[in-house]
Amino acid sequence: MSGAWSPNYFFIWDGNSSDNRETETSVKNRSQKPSTKLIARERIAILFGQAQRVYAEDPLLANRYVDLARRISMRQRVRIDHEFRRRFCHHCYAYLVPGRNMRVRVHRGNVVVTCITCKKHTRYHIGRTHDRKD
Ligand SMILES: [Zn+2]
Repeated sequence: MSGAWSPNYFFIWDGNSSDNRETETSVKNRSQKPSTKLIARERIAILFGQAQRVYAEDPLLANRYVDLARRISMRQRVRIDHEFRRRFCHHCYAYLVPGRNMRVRVHRGNVVVTCITCKKHTRYHIGRTHDRKD
């Protein structure tokens, strides 16, 4: 327990959706701030990194990080990167670790991920950059 990083920080950040300084700096570009999305993606990456780290000790905490990452992506309208999207169950949103709570099979050119927690499958296309979930 380092205590240097607290999940509460993200709760505070997440709730603070309105920014007062915005009106002063620019009137034109107030609806689209690319930096906000960049920060959101960074936060998501950090959260998945944290989830990976704490999973062995506390899988439920890992799930909470996934939940926070999803909320950030929904609020900021950013997509969760490919590499992270496969790390959680799209049905119960549990953080997935191969060999622990997920099984991976390749079936007819598709990756089929089975979540041990909810017993559901998620399919991914391989080979294409554009992956669609079932
Ligand atoms: Zn699941």
